[in-house]
Amino acid sequence: MSGQLFVFSGPSGTGKSTIVSALREKVDGLWYSISHTSRRPRGMEKKGIDYHFVDRKTFEDMIDSGAFVEWAKVYDDYYGTSFASINEQTDSGLDVLLDVDVQGARNLKDHFADTVLIYVLPPSLEILESRLKARGTNSDSVVRMRLEKASREIKNCLWYNYIIINDELERSIEEAQAIVSAERCRTIRRKPTIKKLFGNSFAL
Ligand code: ADP
Ligand code: 5GP
Repeated sequence: MSGQLFVFSGPSGTGKSTIVSALREKVDGLWYSISHTSRRPRGMEKKGIDYHFVDRKTFEDMIDSGAFVEWAKVYDDYYGTSFASINEQTDSGLDVLLDVDVQGARNLKDHFADTVLIYVLPPSLEILESRLKARGTNSDSVVRMRLEKASREIKNCLWYNYIIINDELERSIEEAQAIVSAERCRTIRRKPTIKKLFGNSFAL
C-alpha cells in the first residue's frame, strides 16, 4: 500500500509547524518530511529534526545530482524536498506531512497527483505580524519582508484543496485531523482494506 502526501503551506508565522507537530502527536501513521535548507538554524531548531541544514554549495550539488523532487529559493535561501525524505515512507504505507511554499506545493502536485494541499491562513495580517514578532527569532527587516510576501501570496490559497483559518489553535488542529481522516476514508484509499476483508472476488 502506498501512503499519501499532505502538504501544508501558508505565510511564515501563520502556525504551520505548530499544527503539523500537534497532528503528528495525535494521529498514527504520519511521517514528517524533513526538508533541506541553506538557511541557518533559528532559535531552538535542531539539525535533522526541523531541517537538514546544509551550506549553499552542498545544496547546489544536490540539485545537480537530482536529489530533490522539488526545490525553491524562498527569502534568498534554498529549500527542498529530497526523494529520500518521502519515498521510503510512502512505500511502506505511511502518510507524509510536508511544510513547503506555494511553488513546492505546485511541483509536488505535478509529481504526485493525489497530493492533498492544505493552506493555513492567519486570521488577519495584523495577527500574522504579532505572531512573527512573538516568535522572537526574526529581525524587524525579516519580519517586514515576510509580511510583504504574505500579502502577495495569500491569494494562492484558492487553488488548494483545503483552507484552515488558524484563529483558535485547538479548532485548527481538529480541522487538520478531520482532513486526514476524511482523505483516509476515500474509496480509492479503502480498496486495499476491502480486498483484505472481502477477498479478491470483490469487484474492484
Ligand atoms: P509557521 O510554521 O507557519 O512559520 P509557527 O508554527 O512557527 O508558524 O507559529 C508562529 C508563532 O505563532 C509561534 O510562536 C506559535 O506558537 C504561534 N501560534 C501558532 N498558532 C497560533 C494560534 N492559533 N494562536 C496564537 N498563536 C499561534
Ligand atoms: P522557514 O524559514 O520559516 O522555516 O520557511 C520559509 C518557507 O520555506 C515556508 O514558506 C516553508 O513552507 C518553505 N519551505 C520549507 N521547506 C521547504 C521545501 O522543502 N520546499 C519548498 N519549496 N519550500 C519549503
